[in-house]
Amino acid sequence: MSFHFYGNTKALQVLQQSIQTGHLSHAYLFYGPAGVGKQALAKQFAQAIFCQGENIPCGHCIPCQKMLKNIHPDFQELGGQNTKNSFHVKEVRAIRSDAYIRPNDGEAKVYLLNGVDNMSKEAANSLLKVLEEPPDNVVFLLTCPSRSAVLPTLVSRCVPIEIFPVTQPECIQALQELSPDTTLEEITRASQLCDGIIGKGLELLSDPEEIKASQTAFQILESLSKGNELAVVVALSPLENSRPFTKKVLLFLSNLLRLALQAKIKKISILGLDDFIQKQSIQSILKMADTVETCIGMLEQNANLKLCVTWLSANLPYSI
Ligand SMILES: [Zn+2]
Repeated sequence: MSFHFYGNTKALQVLQQSIQTGHLSHAYLFYGPAGVGKQALAKQFAQAIFCQGENIPCGHCIPCQKMLKNIHPDFQELGGQNTKNSFHVKEVRAIRSDAYIRPNDGEAKVYLLNGVDNMSKEAANSLLKVLEEPPDNVVFLLTCPSRSAVLPTLVSRCVPIEIFPVTQPECIQALQELSPDTTLEEITRASQLCDGIIGKGLELLSDPEEIKASQTAFQILESLSKGNELAVVVALSPLENSRPFTKKVLLFLSNLLRLALQAKIKKISILGLDDFIQKQSIQSILKMADTVETCIGMLEQNANLKLCVTWLSANLPYSI
């Protein structure tokens, strides 16, 4: 059995057991933060349900090929608009009538419903009715950010599959495989800022705005170890033009300082941050983190952007 997924051993075991024992449930709820891979894993599970090969999902048999080309007649994917109430009742009703028609190719039909937390109340109730009396040979795969985001009665009808962020080494491995043209340095930096969420890491490597913001955060961090005020002022200079950009950079910086602090206290190494951690004391990292947090708070309260950046450069401690 070979799902191609990172970390999340427990979730993979539950799904593998379902396939191997042939005891498929009528519904599975994949939940976890955005970008963690819920949809990707749910699709692989659908492929595994249809697969006729040996090392399920084999990727080579006809059903696997149809899934990989998005042309399997017994698989439907809906939702995923990411705005509240964007998943309408008419879509669920269409599934309800379709679910009672026998499968075309194989023995099962699979419906992947992305973002069920965005279902209107009517849509959620309509789905609940199907799950209360599910047709034979039909499997529903639901995704949402957390169990509390959907009706408890819906949750209780599903096998819960929680997807967690991965460790930094797992994240680096994933980003290397998924973004092969990127340098190890860029990947390491993305892995420090994405909190183990691979989708977020990929965004950090491909979205120009994210790339610029993360580079600026790292430049500020490096400037704090140079021991002169001018270096800090220069590193902070890209912040004076845009409030959303500044906030993004400061959130990244806050994230990096939190990681550095944890590493310093636990005396562990963090790839790419070790030089900074070695040069700084716990007290100075704490003061930096506190200053950055205060500045984020000032920005959120609509303080003048230039004043915020000036305040930041005057209050960030820098040392040799
Ligand atoms: Zn196959």
